[in-house]
Amino acid sequence: MAQGILVIAEQRRGVLSPVTQELIGAARAIKNDVGGAVSVAIIARDPASLAEGARLDGVDEVLLLPVTADEFQPDLHVAAAMQAVSERDPSLILAPHSVDGWGYAAALAVQADAGFATDVFAIQVDAGEVTAVRGAYGERAHALLEFPGRDRVLLALRPSAFPAAEGAADSTVTELSVPETAARSRHLEFIDPPSEGGVDIPGAEFILSIGRGVGEEDNVEEFAELAEQMQAVLGCSRPIADAGWLPKARQVGYSGKTASSCKLYLALGISGSVQHLAGMKHVENIIAVNSDANAGIFNVARYGVVGDMFEVSKELRQHFE
Ligand SMILES: Cc1cc2nc3c(=O)[nH]c(=O)nc-3n(C[C@H](O)[C@H](O)[C@H](O)COP(=O)(O)OP(=O)(O)OC[C@H]3O[C@@H](n4cnc5c(N)ncnc54)[C@H](O)[C@@H]3O)c2cc1C
Repeated sequence: MAQGILVIAEQRRGVLSPVTQELIGAARAIKNDVGGAVSVAIIARDPASLAEGARLDGVDEVLLLPVTADEFQPDLHVAAAMQAVSERDPSLILAPHSVDGWGYAAALAVQADAGFATDVFAIQVDAGEVTAVRGAYGERAHALLEFPGRDRVLLALRPSAFPAAEGAADSTVTELSVPETAARSRHLEFIDPPSEGGVDIPGAEFILSIGRGVGEEDNVEEFAELAEQMQAVLGCSRPIADAGWLPKARQVGYSGKTASSCKLYLALGISGSVQHLAGMKHVENIIAVNSDANAGIFNVARYGVVGDMFEVSKELRQHFE
């Protein structure tokens, strides 16, 4: 009978992605309830070079699966992961809900005959039965899922939703050979994305971000001027970028940019959806202005103003004149 957890590590250009530690953290938290060992599969041209980074607290075994491609290739990834599944027979497989994860997880679930869910941000295991919570309807609802009759479940976990594993462990390292597999696509080269007009959200230390509270396109200019006066980089939530009121390069969040260097984030008229928070909730100093006292953004804000962003803008513009 299937037992144990198989974590599929993610690496990009020879470096383990942070989500790998989160997958291991999630595995560690439920290890005792699932039963069996936690194995981490590293699929790369030179997996041995990444093994140390996966030997973290909770990991029993690191599996090295060498493949012939330097960059992510879905067919090779599925074949390699399937090799680990065949040899370890895990009851739970954890993969990242990431661009690469989207490229192979569904195919792997089919081949591994596993129940499957994407965008999972909570897992429970009760008497061996796995239930998972995932986002639904653009986060307007959460969906609780079970996997009746399945010996095996594959969950693609949302980045930043699980605490990262820490602390080195004495995990064993085993190399498995991956069967020769025909790849149906081939990586040619990386291409620089179109210029973002000098907008650098990841590098900005002070971001003034506007959301749908801005009301209409004509009002955006006022906040662009305010940002300039305050020497902040102007950011926005997705609806503002989707509407074309500001370029996509200014969007903060899950499908936008991460405010990686930010020390002060001023959120004006932003509700605080989980997708927006994904790009900024880590910032130490968040100041939120929202007319709704129950807005979720206040849960992550150090300082909050329940009020009108236009009133606050007026005051600030006088102050910074
Ligand atoms: C796959 C996926 C990826 C996504 N990626 C992103 C992403 O990267 N970034 C992102 O931002 N969203 C993203 N979203 C969208 C996200 O779910 C939310 O819809 C979005 O963040 C909401 O933007 P908002 O807060 O500006 O708008 P709303 O949720 O409409 O909030 C507007 C807020 O303004 C307040 N307000 C109104 N008038 C005023 C006023 N005069 N003064 C002060 N406050 C006022 C309201 O009380 C409200 O809280 C994504 C969604 C999906 C499904």
